[in-house]
Amino acid sequence: MKEKREGGIEAPTRHAIDWQSPDFYDRDKLNAELERVFDVCHGCRRCVSLCDSFPTLFDLIDESETMEVDGVDKKDYQKVADQCYLCDMCYMTKCPYVPPHEWR
Ligand code: SF4
Ligand code: SF4
Repeated sequence: MKEKREGGIEAPTRHAIDWQSPDFYDRDKLNAELERVFDVCHGCRRCVSLCDSFPTLFDLIDESETMEVDGVDKKDYQKVADQCYLCDMCYMTKCPYVPPHEWR
């Protein structure tokens, strides 16, 4: 039986972005996926020092009424994405939840 283990110490598995699917351009589906991912990051916060995306997200959460991701206005999601300069550090070096982890 294959040993089950946390990710994060080996190169993560890359999955091609399905950019030709109509779902890729569906704003509601994008926001649902962002909410899911933001909630994983909120529960972890390991990447807070890597770039401004993470402090932006965590401030939005901490200053919201619920202090959870559901308290953040979806219009503000773009503020988090705008701070990402695609350095890949979170994906390649920090995150224990990258594929093959089920949270992806
Ligand atoms: S890819 Fe780099 S800039 Fe973008 S969220 Fe990750 S650590 Fe921040
Ligand atoms: S380690 Fe992963 S889940 Fe944790 S804050 Fe970074 S990207 Fe988010």
